Amino acid sequence: MSLLSLRGLTKSYDGVRAVDDVSLDVGRGEVRALIGPNGAGKTTLVGLAIGRIAADAGRVVLDGQDITALPAHRRARLGMAYTFQITSIYARLPVFENVALAARPHMMAGEVPDAVAQALEQVGLERHRGALAGDLSYGHQRLVEIAMGLASAPRLLILDEPTQGLSEPEIAAFKDLVRSLSGRCAILLIEHNMDVVMALADRVSVLAAGALLFEGTPDAVRADPGVQAAYLGAP
Ligand code: ATP
Repeated sequence: MSLLSLRGLTKSYDGVRAVDDVSLDVGRGEVRALIGPNGAGKTTLVGLAIGRIAADAGRVVLDGQDITALPAHRRARLGMAYTFQITSIYARLPVFENVALAARPHMMAGEVPDAVAQALEQVGLERHRGALAGDLSYGHQRLVEIAMGLASAPRLLILDEPTQGLSEPEIAAFKDLVRSLSGRCAILLIEHNMDVVMALADRVSVLAAGALLFEGTPDAVRADPGVQAAYLGAP
């Protein structure tokens, strides 16, 4: 059984189908990439999965449980974490406190310090735990976001364009981080950087114009003429 199973999800805005009958499975421990051109519907699909956007049709099933009717915070408690946008970091609070804020809704108060320490260790930010989040480099701030997602010990971590704006060394470190996480939780990676996708994904789902265009291994996706035409450009 898949960890996350999206079935026939559909969402229209003003009569235009942003997501059109999309089904997608993420297996336990899998790194699944979701790619597609701008406006393909990736953010909308993830919004439907995590409950930030209400679906017009379709179902969301997590570990066999139909969660379609649950609000976002209930889905989060069941183990779906979504990387916060950079704006959700409190610049004037220490790194540790930012991650603690993300952890608190998920556990007893006494468990928070250990969970935060572990999440900071996983992303390699222990040394910066006392620093104000706003004083960190952009790359480190992105890692704080990931630590915030990890602090709840999710079963599924959804990373929305995590390498955007990162330098090459930071991207290399991000790849190592994801490799170290795989096995602990499944990862759904929305990513424009094809090098990152090819390096990390077990399977890739390609969205185009709201519909699933192709699904397969990174090599199969790279070799598919339809994907090349729609997304990757001419070889
Ligand atoms: P990007 O890679 O640029 O982030 P995306 O693949 O995430 O794109 P979405 O942001 O999901 O794509 O958008 C899919 C389509 O739905 C687009 O045509 C977009 O204009 C439209 N759309 C998304 N959100 C809304 C909204 N709140 N109101 C109206 N239209 C929307």
